[in-house]
Amino acid sequence: MARCTECGTLFDIDDARDDYNAEFNGELDYDEDFVGTKCGNCAISQSASEINVGAAIDMMNGEIEYDADHVEKYL
Ligand SMILES: [Zn+2]
Repeated sequence: MARCTECGTLFDIDDARDDYNAEFNGELDYDEDFVGTKCGNCAISQSASEINVGAAIDMMNGEIEYDADHVEKYL
């Protein structure tokens, strides 16, 4: 068991990895960024928000279709 540095919950690393990899269909790698430091929920929410911020920046740069609500929410 490991303790999440974000929410303090004790969690099983194998479970967290399974949850994380299922959420992102294996496109992101739990072991690369979070192994043993964040539970599945916290790792998922951090990565999801990074993805959303990244998308908002791409919108500002005109790289993907602009969505004012998205930019407002994440930047
Ligand atoms: Zn956590």
